[in-house]
Amino acid sequence: MNNPLLQKFNTPHTTSPFSQLKNEHFKPAFQESIAKAKAEIDQITKNVEAPTFENTIEALDFSGYTLDRISSIFFNLNSAETNDEIQKIAQEVSPWLSDFSNDIRLNEQLFKRVKTVYDSREELVLSTEQKTLLDKKYKGFARNGANLNENAKNKLRELDKKLSKLSLQFGENLLAETNAYELHITDEHQLKGLPEGAKEAAQLLAKQQDKDGWVITLDYPSYVPFMTYTENRSLRETLAKAFGARAFQNNEHDNQLIVLDIVKLRYERANLLGYKTHAHFVLEERMAETPEKVLSFSNELLAKAKPAAEREFKQLVKFAKKDGIDQLEKWDGAYYSEKLKKKLFDLDQEALKPYFKLENVIEGVFTIANKLFDLQFKAVTTIDKYHEEVLTYEVTNSNGDFISVFYADFFPRKGKRNGAWMTSYKSQWQKDGENSRPHISIVCNFTKPTETKPSLLTFNEVTTLFHEFGHALHGMLANTTYPSLSGTSVYWDFVELPSQLLENWCYEKEALDLFARHYETNEPIPMDLVEKIKDSASFLEGIQTLRQLSFGLLDMSWHGTSESPETIKSVKEYETKSFAETQLYPDVAENCMSTSFAHIFQGGYSSGYYSYKWAEVLDADAFEYFKETGIFNKKTAKEFVDNVLSQGGTEKPMTLYKRFRGKEPNADALLKRAGLFTK
Ligand SMILES: [Zn+2]
Repeated sequence: MNNPLLQKFNTPHTTSPFSQLKNEHFKPAFQESIAKAKAEIDQITKNVEAPTFENTIEALDFSGYTLDRISSIFFNLNSAETNDEIQKIAQEVSPWLSDFSNDIRLNEQLFKRVKTVYDSREELVLSTEQKTLLDKKYKGFARNGANLNENAKNKLRELDKKLSKLSLQFGENLLAETNAYELHITDEHQLKGLPEGAKEAAQLLAKQQDKDGWVITLDYPSYVPFMTYTENRSLRETLAKAFGARAFQNNEHDNQLIVLDIVKLRYERANLLGYKTHAHFVLEERMAETPEKVLSFSNELLAKAKPAAEREFKQLVKFAKKDGIDQLEKWDGAYYSEKLKKKLFDLDQEALKPYFKLENVIEGVFTIANKLFDLQFKAVTTIDKYHEEVLTYEVTNSNGDFISVFYADFFPRKGKRNGAWMTSYKSQWQKDGENSRPHISIVCNFTKPTETKPSLLTFNEVTTLFHEFGHALHGMLANTTYPSLSGTSVYWDFVELPSQLLENWCYEKEALDLFARHYETNEPIPMDLVEKIKDSASFLEGIQTLRQLSFGLLDMSWHGTSESPETIKSVKEYETKSFAETQLYPDVAENCMSTSFAHIFQGGYSSGYYSYKWAEVLDADAFEYFKETGIFNKKTAKEFVDNVLSQGGTEKPMTLYKRFRGKEPNADALLKRAGLFTK
C-alpha cells in the first residue's frame, strides 16, 4: 500500500501529508513505525560496544522518530478534526502505544546501559544540555522503580494497581453523587436573576426528563450560573450544600476512606522509591523542587494577600448587609461578588467585541511578535492542511531564515473538542549539522463570522489567543539539540510562563493601539474601556488568591507533610486544620472539599495545585521586567528568547529564569498587578 505516512514526508521542510491521508493509513503506519522503533531500541541494547552517551542516551532520544510524528498527526487530528472511525482507531492503537512505552520502561538491558553511562557521569565531558538529558533518561527509569529488587518491584506494581483502581473509584463516586442530585423548580419566580440562556438550558434539562419547569444540576454549566445570579438565597444554600456534600454522605459513594487510602498508598510508594513523601517525589521534577519551597512560597503569598482579602471580604459583607444579610455565607459569595462587580464596573462585554475583529487580533499578535522577536509571519497557501478553515503560515526571522511552520485553526465545528490548545506536528532538534525546524499549531473555538458580521472576539477570547500564541512561540523558537528537551518539554510549573506572559500585552495601551480598532469605524479602543477591563480583571483578587492558596495548601497537607498518613483519622478534621489560615466564610459542617477534589485524587494534579499561583507569580514577575525596560524592548525580549524560549528543558527552570531575570521570581509584581499591596 502506498501509505503517505510512511513515505519520505520526514524531510525537514516537508509538512504533514493531510490531504492524502485516509483513515485506513493509520493502523498500518502505527504498526510499522512501532516495529521500527523497537528495532532501534534493540540496536541500542544489542550493541557490543560499551555504553556511551552517544550510543545509548543520544540514540535513545532520537529513537522512535517516525512513530512520534505519526502519533502527533493522529492524536492532533483526534482532537481537532475527529470522527467515529478515528476514535475507534484511537481506542485500538492506544494500548499498542502504552505497551510499547512500558516495554521500554521495563527493559532491564536498556536500563543497565543507561545506568552505566549515568554512573560514570562525573568522568564524562558533557555539555549542560547533555547532562540534563542523561539525568532525564536515567530518572525516567529510576522513578519507575528500575533500581528496586524483584520484591520491591512487585510491591510497586501492586501499589500502582491499587492506586489506579482507587482513583477510578474516586471519580466514579464523584460522578455518581454529582448525577444523583437535581433541583427541580416549577415556580419561575424562584429563578429570578438567572440569565435567559441559563434558564433555557434548565428548561431543556427538565424537558429531557419529561418534567415541567426547570432542572438545575451539580454540573458546572448548570451550577455556576445558578450560584452567581439566582436571587433566592435559600435555594442557593440548598444547592451549595448539595454540591459540597458530594461523596461525603456516608453512603455507598462516599470517598472518605478512599482519600485516606490514596494518601497512605502514595506515601508508601514514595518511601519505596526513596522519597520522604509523595510531594517530594512529584516536585523533584518541578521548578519548585521541594514541598518546603512550595510551602514557603504559599505562606509568603498568603501573608501578603490576606490583608487585602480581608478588606475585600469586609466590602462584600457591607454590600450584602444592604440586602439584610447578617452573616455572609459560602452560597452568597459568587452572587454578591457578581452584583458588586456589576455595580462598580458595569463592563459590557458586547461593547468591547467590535474592537477585536479576529483578523485584526491575529495581525496584532504577529506585529507584537515582530516588534519583540523580529519574527515574520507569511500566509502560505501551499502548505497542506486537514481542514479548509486552517490558516497556514511560514515563519522567518530577520535574516530570512526559516523558523517554523505555523497552523492556526480558530472556529468550532463538529469533530473538534472544546477549549483552546497549542500542539506540534513536528518537534525541533539538531543532528548531523542540521537544525530541523518545528511545525506548530494552535487550535481554538472562537466566535464564528456570520453572513453580515466578521468574527468579533470577546476580550476573553483575545487573551486566549495571546495565551496559545505564547505557547506557540515556545515551540517555534525552540533551539535545542535533543527532541525530548525541545520547546514546551519543560516542567509543569514552568510551561505556562510564555503563554501567561504574552497575555499581559492585551492590557497595555501601547500594544492595543496596534490592533484594537473598531471594525467599522477604525476608531481605536477607548482607554477608559481598557482601564475598566484591567480593574475588573483584578476585582476581588485577594479573595480569589486566598481560595487558590487554600486548595494548594490542602493538596500539600495531604501529600507533603512527613507525619505518617496512618495517623490521620478524619478527612474533615484534617482538612479543616489545613484550611485554618485561608478561610473567610464560616465552615459548613456537612460539606467537605477533599472528597470531591478530583484534581488531586482522580486526575494527575496531586502535589501540583500550587502551580496555578506559581505560574501567575512567574508571569507577573517576568512582565515587570518588560515594564521596567519597555514592553517592546528588543534587548529584554532577546534575553527571554536566549534564556527561556529557545532553551526548552535543557536546564533547570530556576536557572534559566534567573539568567533571564537576574534574580529569583517573587510575588511583589503579582501583588502590584492585582492591586493587593497593603499600604
Ligand atoms: Zn496554557
